[in-house]
Amino acid sequence: MHLLVLAGDGIGPEITSATLAVLRAASERFDLRLRLEEAATGHAGLRAHGHTIHPDIVEKARKVDGIVLGPTSTFEFKDPAKGEVNPSMMLRKSLDLFANIRPARTYAGFPLRCGEFDLVVARENTEGFYADRNMEEGSGEVLVTKDVAISLRRITRACSERIARAACELAMTRPKRVTIVHKANVLKVTDGLFIESCRKVAREFPAVAVDDVIVDAMMAHVVRNPQRFDVIVTTNMYGDILSDLTAELSGSLGLAASLNAGADHGMAQAAHGSAPDIAGKNVANPLSLILSAAMKTNSFEAAAAAIEKAVEAAIAAKEATSDVGGRLGTRETGDAVAVRVRA
Ligand code: ATP
Repeated sequence: MHLLVLAGDGIGPEITSATLAVLRAASERFDLRLRLEEAATGHAGLRAHGHTIHPDIVEKARKVDGIVLGPTSTFEFKDPAKGEVNPSMMLRKSLDLFANIRPARTYAGFPLRCGEFDLVVARENTEGFYADRNMEEGSGEVLVTKDVAISLRRITRACSERIARAACELAMTRPKRVTIVHKANVLKVTDGLFIESCRKVAREFPAVAVDDVIVDAMMAHVVRNPQRFDVIVTTNMYGDILSDLTAELSGSLGLAASLNAGADHGMAQAAHGSAPDIAGKNVANPLSLILSAAMKTNSFEAAAAAIEKAVEAAIAAKEATSDVGGRLGTRETGDAVAVRVRA
């Protein structure tokens, strides 16, 4: 398995290094024949080659079996003319990684916030409120006058149908429930099209029960009763926000696993950001990226299952970072999971 590793900024290098320790352990045990190729992105990329993500890295990403991307300082990258683009956007757009799958489940070992639950957010990844990926050329965000700014939201039938299909296929491997999250009471045309597309695809999956919930009400429902949900399918920005909430409800944002999947490519990427407030302190929870990487090894089912089991056991033994009730640092948490994967 040939992986391109892009460590990113902030806590990225620390959580990536812990993740690689786990992947190496999985490779030893399950003969994944792991080949890791690292490249500089984010600030390290700007220093090394003048790009937050060099076009050669994007080309390389097309040829490998998968990508592990650490968080980058997206907010600080403002001027594409100076090589400053959001690496995550560039890879999602270039490789057409349309489905962002973000599971959230509880683990034994620390106090539960809302009882046990196990759900997945299937977030559309290539359009929606994310104006930076909506245009063939240029940006969908424009300054009309110095006091007027416009952002273009795009919803298409094709992108809505393919995320709906991914959600229904996922539901077929789980309790077979899909909830469409939207704001069609206000965004009648765009979210109306999204719901219509999801419902059309869902008719191909008669075993799957489908309902829909308005995004603002969803915030209350998911806090009150997360057990009600199985697979949640939604547009780009609602999914981004909702999945931070579901990750934190499951215990910590540090558990927020995320796989960006397309027809031909996949990228493991923690759902949280670069957490500059805790960077360089060896305290960040690496489990989000470790669990994301496990999703990427899904073609090697035994390896993915072993990593998930090792994470469960490490949390239960309090051999993890403090946000999930443990006593270890980032590096030591990676090692604690790696030891269990090897066992
Ligand atoms: P960015 O600008 O890159 O989005 P941010 O700090 O604004 O960074 P997040 O990185 O998502 O946003 O962090 C939100 C909060 O959650 C921060 O207080 C951060 O320290 C915490 N956090 C995020 N990731 C982790 C992690 N892996 N382990 C522990 N705490 C985390």
